[in-house]
Amino acid sequence: MTLNIDQDKPTKVAVIGGGIAGATTALHLAEQGIEVDLIEKSSSLISGPPICHLHAGGNLYREISLEQCVQLLRQSIESVRLYPHTLNKRPTLIVVPHSDGGDPNELLPRLEQIRAVYRDLVEQDEANRVLGEPEQYFKLYSREELDQLKLREQRAEPQDHDEWLIPFAQQADLDAIHYPVVSVNEYGWSVFRIAASAMLALEQLPNCQMKLNTQLVDMTPSGMQWLLTMDDGQMRYQHHYDYVINACGFETGIVDDLANTPRQRMVEFKAAYVTKWASNQQMWPEVIFHGPRGTPNGMAQLTPYPSSIFQLHGMTKEVTLFEDGLVGSCHQSSQPQLPAPLVNKISQGWRESVRVERSNKAIEHMSRFVPSYADAIEFGLPLFGAQQIPGNDETLRAADVSFAGEHYARIEVVKGSSALEAACKIVEQWQLVGKSKEVINGEPRKMSIEDQHPISCALTESQVVEKAQLLALERGYPTELAQVYGH
Ligand SMILES: Cc1cc2nc3c(=O)[nH]c(=O)nc-3n(C[C@H](O)[C@H](O)[C@H](O)COP(=O)(O)OP(=O)(O)OC[C@H]3O[C@@H](n4cnc5c(N)ncnc54)[C@H](O)[C@@H]3O)c2cc1C
Repeated sequence: MTLNIDQDKPTKVAVIGGGIAGATTALHLAEQGIEVDLIEKSSSLISGPPICHLHAGGNLYREISLEQCVQLLRQSIESVRLYPHTLNKRPTLIVVPHSDGGDPNELLPRLEQIRAVYRDLVEQDEANRVLGEPEQYFKLYSREELDQLKLREQRAEPQDHDEWLIPFAQQADLDAIHYPVVSVNEYGWSVFRIAASAMLALEQLPNCQMKLNTQLVDMTPSGMQWLLTMDDGQMRYQHHYDYVINACGFETGIVDDLANTPRQRMVEFKAAYVTKWASNQQMWPEVIFHGPRGTPNGMAQLTPYPSSIFQLHGMTKEVTLFEDGLVGSCHQSSQPQLPAPLVNKISQGWRESVRVERSNKAIEHMSRFVPSYADAIEFGLPLFGAQQIPGNDETLRAADVSFAGEHYARIEVVKGSSALEAACKIVEQWQLVGKSKEVINGEPRKMSIEDQHPISCALTESQVVEKAQLLALERGYPTELAQVYGH
């Protein structure tokens, strides 16, 4: 149903929140000719919690269903087709240390199934081949094979799983882990290049107004529309919209409260640390050392960038996780309340002493598995933020959109790659775009992602990298975090 009360005027959509969910939705709508206002309270887009890993297969999460893994795989491939210059093409190693208590063999049946789905997706559409050859999607390594790789020298541009594994074989504590080690083509995903792509594309679309530094402060139903009150720091003003999309990330509950559309959700504050390991000159893959969450043996994650810069997660209370960092909503409000010190970190930044202490703890945690990592130093502002999880299952990883009434939607992504699917579901639910007139075998022709998004797909790598580096500098991070790693 189209709800426009004045049929002479085009349908007007407000997207509140310019994180990956809102920016991708505004882009998807605007590329198809819909009038959109994107309302974002900060000064640029996609500046919230970090995105470093494209969860193309969900293999980092042992606890999630095959169905969620397949959803993440398909959504990841579609997101990379929408934002083609955002990948860091290096594999992820999944390692089960003795301290974890698990068995890596348990991962294998699911990996086989995910590879089969990837193979099918590539057979259906060649454009889906964004994760390399399906047969090379993952490879297993025994202790003997790693001992062989130890003797090899890595080329400047590693070409296959074996070459990527050389630094790991040489420097990780191979006595402390179970075998096999899994190398899987879950690539890196650059938050700065996603932000740059979305901003560059939206700037070219005259039917999308980017209202930066503008906060939604109130909303009321007005006939078949919504009347929104915005504050741009200078003044308050009001606009009518036919549809409102709430994409406010961890603050989605505040807008749900304004719209009087209750919803149960959780919010979790987490941080990853930027470090420099100058004594390392090799090209590392991403490495996940599994471990029980929230214990001193919690998972350790090494994410590589150019110039020996590495981002570290450690799923312990001293590194990535925080006391009372996971909170839920209640009957009175859809907005979960984080403790004040965590809210202050988001709004006012970090105390130097806390930043240094936690960064050093992250280095120490990683050096349990890669002893030479103890040489690394902390290297500036952490990547951090609060992530929302709809419902009450804290292990949920693939979530997209829900609707309340006929002209209000809320997007709640747990992983960035779910954003495009949420946008597609909104267009479908509200029938915002006329159906294609071209018919093939009795069905309307389904447009490809590239046909639907000509502006985004025409951006060049150099345009994207240049803008991404500026965004990194503006936000206080080394420009290397925005550069391409791997090939
Ligand atoms: C430490 C950490 C690591 C992570 N790593 C990954 C990863 O590797 N891969 C991955 O896919 N995901 C990762 N995530 C999750 C990912 O960051 C989030 O899922 C994603 O950023 C959510 O995007 P969003 O657009 O929903 O929310 P946000 O990015 O939070 O965007 C919401 C926007 O809404 C704006 N806003 C809020 N209220 C208002 C208002 N009233 N008016 C106007 N604007 C408003 C905010 O300013 C913000 O820009 C990670 C999260 C954390 C915390």
